[in-house]
Amino acid sequence: MSASAVWRPFTQHAVEPAPPRIVRSEGAWLHDAEGRAILDAISSWWVTTHGHRQPRIMAAIREASENLDQIIFAGLTHAPAEDLASRLVGVAPRGLTRVFFSDSGSTAVEVALKMALGTFQNRGDLKRVRIAALEGGYHGDTIGTMSVGARGVFNAPYAPLLFEVERIPFPEPGAEQAAYDALERAGRDGALAALVLEPLILGAGGMLTYRPEALSEMARIARAAGALVVADEVMTGWGRTGTMFACDQAGLVPDILCTSKGLTGGAVPLAATLAREEIFEAHLSQDRAKTFFHSSSFTANPIACAAALANLDVWRDEPVAERVAALAQAQTERVRAYEDDPRFANARTCGTIAAVDLKVSDAGYLSEIGPRLRAFFLERGLLIRPLGDVIYLMPPYCVTAAELDRLHDAILEVPGALEAAR
Ligand code: PLP
Repeated sequence: MSASAVWRPFTQHAVEPAPPRIVRSEGAWLHDAEGRAILDAISSWWVTTHGHRQPRIMAAIREASENLDQIIFAGLTHAPAEDLASRLVGVAPRGLTRVFFSDSGSTAVEVALKMALGTFQNRGDLKRVRIAALEGGYHGDTIGTMSVGARGVFNAPYAPLLFEVERIPFPEPGAEQAAYDALERAGRDGALAALVLEPLILGAGGMLTYRPEALSEMARIARAAGALVVADEVMTGWGRTGTMFACDQAGLVPDILCTSKGLTGGAVPLAATLAREEIFEAHLSQDRAKTFFHSSSFTANPIACAAALANLDVWRDEPVAERVAALAQAQTERVRAYEDDPRFANARTCGTIAAVDLKVSDAGYLSEIGPRLRAFFLERGLLIRPLGDVIYLMPPYCVTAAELDRLHDAILEVPGALEAAR
């Protein structure tokens, strides 16, 4: 039996080596017990925006914990949650007026699905019970979010528990019509409650990007069919795609918006599902059966809310938008290196995110490639977790030009190193 009692996420313990033990984090860097520094090029699963242990966020956590710990959020309230809700309304696409707190990206999306269904049920539109979602989407690992996400090896054992959704083809740039047609067909019978999508970029689905115009058009079609638009901004929020929220680039105000990850700058867990007033109103009634029945023990944790408020202060007081723009520009320049290289394909960026497909000849080999690539990067002190043959970088915004060069240089080395090891 292994010495550790921990059962790790997305980890095949039978084949994966024991992970480095991290003892300190700072900026873009993680430091392990052996004294090794590791450059966090994936923002610790896309959460860390400004950098690890951002001083103002850490100070806010310390300060909040002097006065408050978890306080039940039904029947009681507290300043960190009240202030955060009103400030989130201020930075979110205009028209989202209500904020429901939970603890993770998955719960933010579960809450959104329940809000959408509850809205129609409470209005007496009992037929609207179906959800449409993009092919290749990822929305979390709970039963509801796996149902709206892509099916595959990751959720095959649980398929009997998952509900069916209308799959809308990915709106491939230049070939969006298939997505529009499918969505129109899905909406025809008046049973569609919501379209759920990751705006502008599918994250876990392979960092696939699509145009803001396609986002607007899909939202238009869904609404014309009477459905709500749910934007899952769990990954895309807080500057990742170049704007505060990805929806901003399409001028889209979704009916429901999910945020987590960068909400606290990535320091501690917190999520929020923002909704338009009509959705709140659909749950407003003297009839208690129309209550929005969702809670979790740690809803609106005051310390996490304080961290999120400090994150908003950082956005307000520091040139974060400029940092994001500079990183986006640097990524655009760096990905040119892959464009004429026949060993790579489909080099792309979406704001601060850069991705490229590694061309590999045999698919059997492909199944082994993920762990090998991770080991390759880790040996060089880089934390990069490719998604199959897709290598991507999503660093915190404090990453320097020299660090970014180091990351891209390592990616350029990959094909040669894999060839040599064959
Ligand atoms: N939605 C999107 C778009 C995500 O990328 C993720 C996580 O990567 C989730 C939802 C789930 O978030 P969490 O892992 O915090 O439950």
